[in-house]
Amino acid sequence: MAEISRLPRPVLSAWEWQEKGACRELPTEMFFHPDGERGPRRANREKNAKAVCATCPVIEACRQHALSVQEPYGIWGGLSEEDRQLIIERQARESSRESRLSAQVIPLHMDSAS
Ligand code: SF4
Repeated sequence: MAEISRLPRPVLSAWEWQEKGACRELPTEMFFHPDGERGPRRANREKNAKAVCATCPVIEACRQHALSVQEPYGIWGGLSEEDRQLIIERQARESSRESRLSAQVIPLHMDSAS
């Protein structure tokens, strides 16, 4: 389930990109696999959905939305569930590394005290 606390506020400007999506008139089954679908059938579904996303004028907005709210299901912005999970995990690792590095920074006024 998506973490709804991360959803944008319910104002039109935060959602209007969806009106321009290339998937707007397409069946949702193209972008969301049924429970338990695996193997070539799922891979083919993802490939076809990603091909639609590749033509979409709002692919960046869609991708950013899916990553920011951590959409758990479907193809969004040309990314599968697994694609998004990898990106989110990488971002978490990078954020953690940056936090550790910034904690190790010695303030300039202390560095010259010795
Ligand atoms: S990027 Fe893909 S899922 Fe997102 S709006 Fe466009 S076609 Fe739909």
